[in-house]
Amino acid sequence: MRLIDADKLPTGIIFPEEVNQTPTEDAVLVQHGKWEAIKLDKANSFNELLGGGWKCSECGDEVYLVTDTIDHNYCSNCGAKMDLKEAIQ
Ligand SMILES: [Zn+2]
Repeated sequence: MRLIDADKLPTGIIFPEEVNQTPTEDAVLVQHGKWEAIKLDKANSFNELLGGGWKCSECGDEVYLVTDTIDHNYCSNCGAKMDLKEAIQ
């Protein structure tokens, strides 16, 4: 796959040669994931202080917070954008 910036193409009718001559851009594919809730053992005294735990669906990194919701848009471990409702199989 070769990625190009469409804004660098000429306006109007575009010929295949013009697309082929447009330089390739550096780009990083965005990895998508979701936070999966971790069931906390409330019998553990440390867990009593926590509101919740979540695991990244992509790398398995775990995040524990004193709040019962997580609003982190990205996984700080793998960089996945946490915008999936269901994990990709
Ligand atoms: Zn991750």
